[in-house]
Amino acid sequence: MADPEPTGEFGLIAWIRERVQAGRGVSQGIGDDCASLTFRAGAEVLVTTDMLMEGRHFLLHETTAAEVGYKALAVNLSDIASMAGVPVAAFVAVALPRGSAVEVAQGLHAGMIPLLEKFGVTLAGGDTNAWDGPLVVTVTLIGEATDRGAVRRSGARPGDLIIVTGPLGGSLLGRHLRPTPRVAEALVLAEVVRLHAMIDLSDGLAADLGHILEESGGLGATLDALAIPIHPDARSLGGSPIDHALHDGEDFELCLTVSPDDADRLLASPPSGVTLHRIGTIEVEPGLRLRLADGSTRPLTPKGFDHLLGGAS
Ligand code: ADP
Ligand code: MG
Repeated sequence: MADPEPTGEFGLIAWIRERVQAGRGVSQGIGDDCASLTFRAGAEVLVTTDMLMEGRHFLLHETTAAEVGYKALAVNLSDIASMAGVPVAAFVAVALPRGSAVEVAQGLHAGMIPLLEKFGVTLAGGDTNAWDGPLVVTVTLIGEATDRGAVRRSGARPGDLIIVTGPLGGSLLGRHLRPTPRVAEALVLAEVVRLHAMIDLSDGLAADLGHILEESGGLGATLDALAIPIHPDARSLGGSPIDHALHDGEDFELCLTVSPDDADRLLASPPSGVTLHRIGTIEVEPGLRLRLADGSTRPLTPKGFDHLLGGAS
């Protein structure tokens, strides 16, 4: 409480800077024209960025600035997780609503702090603007692949089993604001098996698995309706729970493919703290199919949200 409220852009940046500890990999953080990062020789550097816009991704009268800050960083951490990388440094560019700029910026920061600390990430820079428009937050996260290399979407092979790290569907009821980035889970999985392909579930299982199939050269898959873990929220939303699990976005669980032998080993003794569900198989025949309880299969069409097409397709 002794802290005076920061005033002005530079006061705010100073306020943020005082709250940042330079950490691993960052040789110059906030305070120069560029940040400077140091990676181990030959390291594959991972870069991801995501923008959250008031009115599109959240409403400030329903959501606190801290929740927005948390989510803006969490979704980027989830992207680094899906490559099985180690997050290093975050950059935060904001367009703040003029009337409440400092308060909103402090809220954003408060929401990010627990994640920065939990994952050992340094807030190493950003850009601060205010305007008469709504809040826009862009987080850019830099990470480092392990010496096994980054896990891509493109490595799935026919016969691979498909695994997800948690229950799906109904995130709209509130979970979408506080996803748990599966950074540690991805790293331990990459350590114990050879991950062929991986993606984080942001657009919905059907759509995101579709990305793996497409990037892996036009493969297909059959999902087992009975094996898909359905989140309790998907049951309380109304409508078909399995449809919520297949098509709702923003679960931020990982979806990965591994050889059948590795899948057996993983499922027999999952790494400590990691939940795994085997949900289907990668196949040569293109397209996505759902096997129902009676053994029949039906084609499955992704319904993810497309910002340029507007609504659900
Ligand atoms: P420049 O005009 O050279 O871009 P700025 O005045 O925008 O410099 O930023 C000064 C320093 O503060 C830089 O290190 C920049 O990365 C950092 N910075 C600016 N805004 C933020 C923010 N919202 N969060 C974290 N760092 C920030
Ligand atoms: Mg700047």
